[in-house]
Amino acid sequence: MHEPATLGYVLGQFKLNAVCLDCGRCVELDVPKLIEKYGEDIEVPRLAKIVKCSECGSPHGCGVDLGLLDYNNPKPN
Ligand SMILES: [Zn+2]
Repeated sequence: MHEPATLGYVLGQFKLNAVCLDCGRCVELDVPKLIEKYGEDIEVPRLAKIVKCSECGSPHGCGVDLGLLDYNNPKPN
């Protein structure tokens, strides 16, 4: 059975990008912060209805996509 990814699964492996369905604004979500708020068992698709665009406040919500963490670009030290 294929279950939707949860925040606990995403943490440390992926990043989450939310794209506003109305204005197209794209923001990277703060996964640890979301876990603090909603718990690590919440499913990623459910976030699409929770996350609100801070730009236009669209009532239609956002599309939430998993993104790979960028290991290829380590910060110069
Ligand atoms: Zn928007």
